[in-house]
Amino acid sequence: MPELRQNLATKEWVIISTDRAKRPQAYAQPEHYVLTHEQVLHDLTCPFCVTNEELDLETARWPSFGPWQVRAVVNKFPALMQQEELSRTFDGASRRISGVGYHEIVIEHPHHNTTLALMTAVEIEAVLEMYYNRGWDIRNDPRIRQIVYFKNHGEVAGASLVHPHSQIIGLPVVPNNIRQRTEEARRYFDDTGECVFCVMTTSEREKWERLVSVTEHFVAFVLYAAPTPFNIWIMPKRHSVSFMYTTLEERSDLAQILRVVLQKLYQGLNDPAFNLVVRSAPVKEMGNDYLHWHLEIVPRLSQTAGFELGSGMFINPTFPEECAAFLRGVVVGERVGSRE
Ligand SMILES: [Zn+2]
Ligand SMILES: [Zn+2]
Repeated sequence: MPELRQNLATKEWVIISTDRAKRPQAYAQPEHYVLTHEQVLHDLTCPFCVTNEELDLETARWPSFGPWQVRAVVNKFPALMQQEELSRTFDGASRRISGVGYHEIVIEHPHHNTTLALMTAVEIEAVLEMYYNRGWDIRNDPRIRQIVYFKNHGEVAGASLVHPHSQIIGLPVVPNNIRQRTEEARRYFDDTGECVFCVMTTSEREKWERLVSVTEHFVAFVLYAAPTPFNIWIMPKRHSVSFMYTTLEERSDLAQILRVVLQKLYQGLNDPAFNLVVRSAPVKEMGNDYLHWHLEIVPRLSQTAGFELGSGMFINPTFPEECAAFLRGVVVGERVGSRE
């Protein structure tokens, strides 16, 4: 029997379709697929590779002297521009705001053929520090209402360049998707006096069947109502509305768990394409009690089609519990990227 499951926080329903059930290992990329570590170390045509840097676009680098480990640059083809004047035009049914905002790229490593799964925890921590520092800078611009951190890895996930990078967009509006999630969390808090995300995390820790990894400060689990296979949330144990309120110790611990989870995906599924997003409170909601920031990892293993478009609902052909058990079974160690 198929079943419908609801995400308590977002109220979104999914169909877990057992009739078309697919085993988790069936999602591994085929043998002929070129894994990230099999790419070239340096690409002369890559704008993010060492010696090809476009210095006029740079907004930050670490370390500040000598060879860089992580850089932030303004996107050469930005979706939004910092220099614009903020103007609103509401004319009948037409609403328009000038394209004010930030669109930056975080170049995560000097090597072309690496990815977070292959980096050391210290290197991942440097990437998270860059997110944090650029985030505060952007957040301090009073025109900005929402910061979205995301990463596209692999062509099907929307990455146009192999070189490891993520993106930060500062928006002059709060997107409706985020507004809806904020409203749902507020409603739950009003009804019960509890944070819905804390409730979900506690429940996952008690039930353990969907857990992927647990560290001192974080819990990683496959979502109970996962819309797609291997949809993972990494939740901070400490209730906090925003990534901007994390401590250095928490970011260091986040680097550890992120490395473990992404290594499990890399090794278990042969470097699948994925999107990673940081879900953090809107700038004007950073003082509330009911939101709980977290990271979401969505491997791109199945295609969405008309049903998803027409309903906003997904059909997931794999049990989240089986995906979690599969990932728990992937032993990660120092030797990364092996096909064995
Ligand atoms: Zn490169
Ligand atoms: Zn919470």
